[in-house]
Amino acid sequence: MLAILLLIVAVPRVMGWDLLSTLRQQAAYQNYYDSTLPVACPFDGTPLREGPPQRPGVLFCPNGDFHYPDDWDAETMSGM
Ligand SMILES: [Zn+2]
Repeated sequence: MLAILLLIVAVPRVMGWDLLSTLRQQAAYQNYYDSTLPVACPFDGTPLREGPPQRPGVLFCPNGDFHYPDDWDAETMSGM
């Protein structure tokens, strides 16, 4: 309860609403990129192909260097 009150009262004074809304927007972008599937290989840019029908949701690079979701790292490959 005290922490929430501190957040409401202190944060806008320390950081300003502009920075706070920027951080919120940043978090929204992060969520978006984390939940977006890759469309191209992060190594060579080749459009990914869908995996075999028996494994729905699998994407792979025809050059064999990338496999989704096994090789996917949203932290470094999502464009953030
Ligand atoms: Zn590739």
